[in-house]
Amino acid sequence: MDVKYVFITGGVVSSVGKGVTSAALGRLLKERGLNVAIQKLDPYINVDPGTMSPYQHGEVYVLDDGSETDLDLGHYERFVDINLTKVCNVTTGQVYADVIAKERRGDYLGGTIQVIPHITNEIKHRIAQVSKTTNADVVIVEVGGTVGDIESLPFLEALRQMRGDVGRENCCYVHVTWLPHIAATGELKTKPTQHSVRELRSIGISPDVIIARADLPIEQELTAKIAQFCDVEQKAVLPMHTADVMYDVPLRLEELGVGDYLMDKLSLKASRQPQWEVWEHLVAESRREKPKLNIALVGKYVELHDAYFSVREALNHAGLALGVEVHIDWVHSVDLEKGIGWDEVKAADGVLVPGGFGSRGIEGKVLAAKYAREELVPYLGLCLGMQLMVVEFARNVLGYSDANSTEFDPASPHPVIDLMPDQREIADMGATMRLGVYPCELQSGTRAAEAYDKLVVDERHRHRFEFNNAYRTEFEEKGVQLSGMSPDGRLVEIAELRDHPFMLATQFHPEFLSRPTRPHPLFLAFVRAACEKAEIKQEAIVFDQEISEKV
Ligand code: GLN
Repeated sequence: MDVKYVFITGGVVSSVGKGVTSAALGRLLKERGLNVAIQKLDPYINVDPGTMSPYQHGEVYVLDDGSETDLDLGHYERFVDINLTKVCNVTTGQVYADVIAKERRGDYLGGTIQVIPHITNEIKHRIAQVSKTTNADVVIVEVGGTVGDIESLPFLEALRQMRGDVGRENCCYVHVTWLPHIAATGELKTKPTQHSVRELRSIGISPDVIIARADLPIEQELTAKIAQFCDVEQKAVLPMHTADVMYDVPLRLEELGVGDYLMDKLSLKASRQPQWEVWEHLVAESRREKPKLNIALVGKYVELHDAYFSVREALNHAGLALGVEVHIDWVHSVDLEKGIGWDEVKAADGVLVPGGFGSRGIEGKVLAAKYAREELVPYLGLCLGMQLMVVEFARNVLGYSDANSTEFDPASPHPVIDLMPDQREIADMGATMRLGVYPCELQSGTRAAEAYDKLVVDERHRHRFEFNNAYRTEFEEKGVQLSGMSPDGRLVEIAELRDHPFMLATQFHPEFLSRPTRPHPLFLAFVRAACEKAEIKQEAIVFDQEISEKV
């Protein structure tokens, strides 16, 4: 069977939920028994988002193979329950870097290198790589940004050419747009959508499906108008007002018939009927009034919640499985240093310190760890959150008041967190950390082993610094269990406190492997401990035990 393509473009404005929509469409097709892969084409010139500030870009999502990608890949993995690979995120930077390297090698034999065909061919080559490296029947390709952006033109041209290359019958173009609301007249307007479709047409792409997004319900009259002006079948204009629960999006799209429409359009055969019971259960649970648990998330990019998207979702998944609503109090670590924000921390049933880079706000996170340790408040540390739990313990329990990570104090006399030896010679910042999945062996009888209920786990990493082994014995003697280690015994992967209800931290990022129907064991254990502190009765809700598939 030919590989089928669904191309997704955005119109009018960005941030209308194109990533979630793409992920949800992927779920619709997976529910019909198809193998689905999703690729994001990002028009910026950075090679990957790994070096970008979370303020610019939100979270950097890490895949099994260690690629640092756009956070939309997190939506794809969570909604479709697949593990993607590096071919699934392409940037302009990668495309140009490759074409220029080939030119320098002389591969083009004296030709003039141009956007068309050289850049567009490289883009098409990368789109083809997805089906070549996976067993996907359908590849969904989402283009970042909005139609009309100068920088996305080569990508759109490549998508246009794909129709000729792989055949019209194997391509479907979906345009996701926004209907602005005019408060004075109480109307939603379709004009920007009409203009955006016209712009897309001028590039040579006629959308087959228009997903009209708005903050308010969209009347049929408006979808009829869009259908007429944009020359799209009425049933292919889908009114999607903002969902109260993100995981409701696939259910709503199914109701609107887009799953069957895509199957039809691409002449695909379903090998099974969609079964939405699990997702319906998930959404019903999300909406149900539940006891509220407060978790203080102490970070430095807290103004932008997207910077911690996977952490937020992992907490949400664990809460859903335990029948509680996890409410996150976003606490700025710099504030804690100034004595601000402590009311939230003190009111919290658990403290979570996520990953991060650079020295701003570090001392605030150390104070949060100290508070959690002394007050016996459940604590979960992720990557930097582990390193600072170690620093705090060294300063206040081992008595090394000058202990630090050499990331923040290269001259610290007690560098309890230090650069990994294989990082010392590295000068480049991009894609040079310890990245991706590595195995971790757990020590039986520890909280970590109990939570996972197994002794070897694979987890995703993104760090340069590590626990300094010279201090192992001292920490262990004073009550820190190094409950997870790399199989060669060299790298500390998990540290936990023996005499504490739950103070556990990981060098890896468990948040990337949490799935809505299968919460991550450590998040589950943390939320459970927080429930106990808050004296909230937990439930044990099992959504289902789907086995995650590698594409
Ligand atoms: N900055 C730390 C390191 O490089 C922690 C990284 C992180 O939290 N992802 O090791």
